[in-house]
Parts: sequence; C-alpha cells; structure tokens
Amino acid sequence: MTVETGQVSRALLELQNMDQEIRAVRDRIESFGPQLDAVEEPARLLEEEVAATETKVRDLRLEERRLSLAAEEKRLRQNRLEDRLNMVRTVREEAAVQAELGLVRRALDQEEQEVVSLLDQIGRFEERLDRQRAALDEARESVAPGREELIARREQVQSEAARLKAQRDVVAGEIEPGYLHVYENLMLSGRKVAVAPMTDDGACGSCFSLIPLQLQNEIRSTAPLVRCEACGVIVTAPSS
Ligand SMILES: [Zn+2]
Repeated sequence: MTVETGQVSRALLELQNMDQEIRAVRDRIESFGPQLDAVEEPARLLEEEVAATETKVRDLRLEERRLSLAAEEKRLRQNRLEDRLNMVRTVREEAAVQAELGLVRRALDQEEQEVVSLLDQIGRFEERLDRQRAALDEARESVAPGREELIARREQVQSEAARLKAQRDVVAGEIEPGYLHVYENLMLSGRKVAVAPMTDDGACGSCFSLIPLQLQNEIRSTAPLVRCEACGVIVTAPSS
C-alpha cells in the first residue's frame, strides 16, 4: 500500500464518520419538533377553542345586526301605515291598511324576539370566551418553562451541528475533488455508507462482495476511483 492510497482512504472514511455524526445530530434537532408540539398541545387546543368561540360570537353579532336593521325598517313601515290609517276615507281602504299593518306588526314582533334571543346567546358565548381566554393564558404560562427549556436545548444541538459542519468542510477540502464529488453524490442519494475500505481478503468492506483481482491490485497500489460493482460504494485501500 502506498502512502497516497492510505491518505485518500483515511480522509474519505473520516469524512464519512463526520457526515454520519452530523446526520445523527440533525436527526436530534428534528426530534425537538414533535417534543415541542407535545409540550404546546394543551395551549394549542385552547387556542382552537378560543378561535371557534370568537367566530361564533362574530357570526351571532352579524346576524343580530342584520335582524336589528330589518326590525328598524319594519318599525318605519309600521309608523307610515299608522299615519295612513288616520287618513283613510273608506272602510275598505281602512281594512286593507289594517291587514297590512297586522302583517308588519307580526313580522316586527318576531324579529324583535329573535334579536332578544340573539343578544342572550351572544352574552352567554362572550362569557364562555372570557373563561376560555383565561384558561388559555394559564396554559400558556404553564407550558412556557418546558417550551423554553426545549428551545434552549435545541439551540445547543444546533450550534454543535454548525461546529461539526465547519470541521467537516475542512476535512472535505483536503480530499481530491474527483473522489469528493463521487462521495458527495453517493451521500446525497441518501446512503448511510458511501465509502468502505477493502477487506484484507479483497472484498468490498460494505457488502463483502469479492472484488476482481485486477481491481484489488489497483486499489492497493494506485488508489483509482473504484466503486464496488455490487453495491456502488467507493472502495478504498484496506485500512490496516
Ligand atoms: Zn459493495
């Protein structure tokens, strides 16, 4: 084994170790997401309840406003009909105005009752909203310490990831671009292992398929870019 093949082998394997470590650290960073969700869950459920009640109150207020306007309009009609009643000249005309007035009064009466009922509902939903908002404030206060602790821990792991990445880039910078390119494409394809040293008896160090003799010799002597025909990893000179 020449010095050169050993260096390439060691550098690629070191890079791979670091990349595996970085992957593990990134998995840890991601695992904070579900943990944060779980901690925030009680407050989030209450937030949904508050939002639903707010929507309900808003809808009821719109409906109440619509009915109040309709009632107001009927009140004006009622007044006009009552004025007309004072000016009728025939019994028949009076009967017609009375009939219309009766209809308007009944409709107005119904709308006024509905407005009263809506105001009553709005009052009850607003009380519920107050209770839900108080519970939400309380829940937010109680989840805050756990949430902050998780965020602080995640930040620690994030800075660890950044430190590893910087170290990794230094190692990568020392590897011949041809090797680095193939290695990185293999890693990007989602493999856990992109490079493996050949075993002493000439097999791929990842899948243990035997490597043709001619290639074995090349790997040991000149360190060409050899990839295992069976599993595709870069096979480097034996590590021992
Ligand atoms: Zn293989």
